[in-house]
Amino acid sequence: MGNKILDISQKPSKFYYQLLVNMKCEPPNLAHWKTVIPRDVEIPSIDIIMQQKVMTIKENKLAEFNYKLLCGIVSCGMLVNKWKPDISSTCKFCNENETQYHIVYLCPLVSDIWRCLSEKTQRNLTIVDIALGIPQERNLNNLISQIAFSIHKYWIIHTNDHVIASKRNLKYLIFHDLMFKSKVMKAIEEKELSDLMFNSANWIQETIT
Ligand SMILES: [Zn+2]
Repeated sequence: MGNKILDISQKPSKFYYQLLVNMKCEPPNLAHWKTVIPRDVEIPSIDIIMQQKVMTIKENKLAEFNYKLLCGIVSCGMLVNKWKPDISSTCKFCNENETQYHIVYLCPLVSDIWRCLSEKTQRNLTIVDIALGIPQERNLNNLISQIAFSIHKYWIIHTNDHVIASKRNLKYLIFHDLMFKSKVMKAIEEKELSDLMFNSANWIQETIT
């Protein structure tokens, strides 16, 4: 805008809101991702990651979840144990440290789901693809975000009971989430995304044994 004087007397409240958001919004610090991403793998720029994992995500709830994942502040045993020591910091299924990465991507309980998606999309999805997004793949990034969100949701909801005592139960819950979401997407005429979710739900169901 240079030296031009801008008349803001008629600007809508959204304009001021956006100014405040711009002032407050800081890009996430990705340094913590180095603990899970292999050294020789190049991490995309923060602008690209934000585009793939936040800006082009259909639902605000999913975009917010992705943003928290990028910032490393998603609820998990390691995090909660810091101020509530009676909450275990280790995974009850495999005894590894229960980090956010462990819950969403790495535990043997969930790795099957990502393997299934990888096989069916014939993409050989890496943790970078899943966690930081895939260029030009808006629908797949949305689907991955939905699955990650569902995994975390059921993990947290059932952390103190035995509903998720097996891969089978977790897959069953995610299958229902995806079926529901595919109908929602269809209703808002996101046909491609709806089909992708519907098919993925069926792939996951096929592997429920
Ligand atoms: Zn585990």
